[in-house]
Amino acid sequence: MTITHIPKGSMCTTCTNGSKACADLQFASMQPIQRYPDGVTAVKCTGHSAPAATPPLCISCGARNHPLPDGSLPCGH
Ligand SMILES: [Zn+2]
Repeated sequence: MTITHIPKGSMCTTCTNGSKACADLQFASMQPIQRYPDGVTAVKCTGHSAPAATPPLCISCGARNHPLPDGSLPCGH
């Protein structure tokens, strides 16, 4: 099976559901965010669940901050 739609990567790293919850999701029916040069479309994952209490830890600088709506981090990583 060829993958044509994936959740925007940074969403997965902050998702509290983990990869198990992703297995049954229909990414092709979700809102597209970005199209990659290889033809894969990044979508806004409707199954994404961000941690409510503790913001995700940035692996680049160690800051804890909530991701912006586009999936990027306020600290710039
Ligand atoms: Zn950072």
